[in-house]
Amino acid sequence: MVTTHNLGFPRIGAQRELKFGLERYWKGESSRDELKALGKQLRARHWNDQRELDLAPVGDFAFYDQVLDMSFTLGNLPARVRGFHGDKLDNYFRVARGRSAQGAEERAACCGGVAAGEMTKWFDTNYHYIVPEFTAETTFNLDPSGFLEQLREAREQGVRAKPVIIGPITYLWLGKAKDGFGTLADKLALLPRLMPVYRALLDYFKVMDVEWVQIDEPVLVTELDPAWRDAFVSAYQGFEERGVKLLLTTYFGQLKENLELACSLPVDGLHIDAINARDEVALAAQRLPAHSVLSVGAINGRNIWKTDLNAALEWLAPLARQLGDRLWLAPSCSLLHVPVDLASEDKLDPEIRSWLAFALQKLDELRVLAVALNGGREKVAHELAANAAALAARRNSPRVNNPAVKAALARIDAKLGKRQHAYAERARKQAALLQLPAYPTTTIGSFPQTPEIRHARSQFRSGALDQAAYQDAMRKEIERSVREQEALGLDVLVHGEAERNDMVEYFGEQLDGYAFSRFGWVQSYGSRCVKPPVLFGDISRPRAMTLEWISYAQSLTNKPMKGMLTGPVTILNWSFVRDDQPRVVSCYQLALAIREEVLDLEKAGVQVVQIDEAALREGLPLRRAQWGEYLRWAVESFRIAANGVQDETQIHTHMCYSEFNDIIASIADMDADVITIETSRSDMELLEAFDNFNYPNEIGPGVYDIHSPNIPTQQHIVQLMQKAAERIPAQRLWVNPDCGLKTRQWAEVIPALSNMVAAAKTLRSQVQ
Ligand code: GLN
Ligand code: ZN
Repeated sequence: MVTTHNLGFPRIGAQRELKFGLERYWKGESSRDELKALGKQLRARHWNDQRELDLAPVGDFAFYDQVLDMSFTLGNLPARVRGFHGDKLDNYFRVARGRSAQGAEERAACCGGVAAGEMTKWFDTNYHYIVPEFTAETTFNLDPSGFLEQLREAREQGVRAKPVIIGPITYLWLGKAKDGFGTLADKLALLPRLMPVYRALLDYFKVMDVEWVQIDEPVLVTELDPAWRDAFVSAYQGFEERGVKLLLTTYFGQLKENLELACSLPVDGLHIDAINARDEVALAAQRLPAHSVLSVGAINGRNIWKTDLNAALEWLAPLARQLGDRLWLAPSCSLLHVPVDLASEDKLDPEIRSWLAFALQKLDELRVLAVALNGGREKVAHELAANAAALAARRNSPRVNNPAVKAALARIDAKLGKRQHAYAERARKQAALLQLPAYPTTTIGSFPQTPEIRHARSQFRSGALDQAAYQDAMRKEIERSVREQEALGLDVLVHGEAERNDMVEYFGEQLDGYAFSRFGWVQSYGSRCVKPPVLFGDISRPRAMTLEWISYAQSLTNKPMKGMLTGPVTILNWSFVRDDQPRVVSCYQLALAIREEVLDLEKAGVQVVQIDEAALREGLPLRRAQWGEYLRWAVESFRIAANGVQDETQIHTHMCYSEFNDIIASIADMDADVITIETSRSDMELLEAFDNFNYPNEIGPGVYDIHSPNIPTQQHIVQLMQKAAERIPAQRLWVNPDCGLKTRQWAEVIPALSNMVAAAKTLRSQVQ
């Protein structure tokens, strides 16, 4: 008999109940007890949703982040929040977001805000965790109370509970060494201090009669130094003779050179992500010791397509015969990365809906697979037939397949992504045409999304505002931005993006091949959720997407107006993408659609076009060995989108992150005339990348941290730009903020940009 289990369940709630509950609590509108009760209610509901499983996860629920929960369980709190006398949950929020609920700190007669914990992406997903902090003084101190409470709740509900913890090696690897405690080896030195706490936690589980513990070590799918591989051996040897069984759990990729290691550790089972590492399943089945369980992640835990159940059974059946009771089945990874329930998607096109599976539907797929393996396929003949029919319909649907798009893709050649001439020649022509001063000023695209803009948009969506009235309202906003920019004396203007809800959704909605859910929310961090659009078919652009707005904006001014687009790689990386073709194919299709838009803008007389690739870096594979391949097609996609223009048309791109030392050559390959990047928060440190690499084109290192309400001073901006000018010739520097201004208010934006323009003037006077 195969055993079914789940690695983790989305905790935010099908209707984002947790998000709203958290935000109410933070604003002081509800009590801590109410919030705790909500958490309990969600856990109960989610266990009930998983009742068909043989084992359900416990401890996967977190009020903010599961890594932060682990830090609290291990007693690894940053020094700045120790000594807080209030409630533990309040202190937890202080680490997560710098402050607790309204009034909570005063009630605890304490402390005011603290620096929020750093946040970073959870492997290659769009989920962000709170980075554990380590110093030479770090000690650990077990607090099992959160786990034990959830375990008791689960037991009361009759759940066969499997606690889920982050393993010690991954926990150390995820953390950041602070206070000069700098190197990777330093973190490993903490392992002897950490191990007793893990052992004590397992002892608690044993006392609670837990049989299995899921111990997540996703770091095993990355390239590990020998010291880290050795640490696995010593850590897991330290877990021998502990009285609970351990399921060593990996996901998101192949184990490759770590497979042998994983199979040799003294644990009781291994979970492999069979979506990403199908070939390793058979290898692991051979190599695992005879008592060991092999858990196969046969259902994609991070995409929203139905599983091909019949195909899965084809390869699972022999494995089930080989392993018998030792075969376990699960989703490939925690379902945290998919929305909860497809059933609420009543507005989604029924044909497309019939191809999808959210978390609850995935659990049902798991049930069907297990019944088929345990009792024969006839027992689920109906489900299997329906699944086959849905998959066949998807494969053959004219909505998925567009021969014209496939033909256009086949015609792509190296010429398509090449500008007519090299940068130096283009720069001459552009300078003659645009007549910009030294240190030209611009912004990144969006201006404040005021309550009025949001109101107009929601009225338009609900039908209360007709097309003409909505257009009118947006035109007024555009006019306002243009007037403000002219008054400020900026050199290259933008229309302000008032009409855009989101930089990906806005384009997805206008492209054929995209669908949108109503409740397809996925947690991004804390109470923040995103609703990635669903890229289901061949991508085409039925009509121009931005032309009307940009042309209108250009008609209001004699200054150059930047056309503003989102790039193909970013659209891809922020969508649920097709599983029936490689990502690169979808990306090239997006690139061709954006290319048409670029050429339409150029034809209409737009001289500057910016193509944002905010998420290019996010798509980097987990293993460095695979970076090159990704970067090749990502860069080529950008080039296809951007580089069909005349020499005179100036192409900008924008990236809003601060580490690209390691990909700068690829960024240069994009061959944009101008790139704007985030730098102000790191005090231009990021420009170190330019010490070793001679970036050939123009660059606008952001001088104004748009994440903060603080107004940068003219002097500070001048200083930052002077630092930049030490590395990049002044003739190739632009002056601009770090990112778009949509989250700021006009009252902040105007003085900040006014200081920025004044700083540019000072800098110009120094060049002459
Ligand atoms: N053009 C976009 C804006 O200004 C860029 C946003 C981003 O980089 N995330 O809002
Ligand atoms: Zn940005």
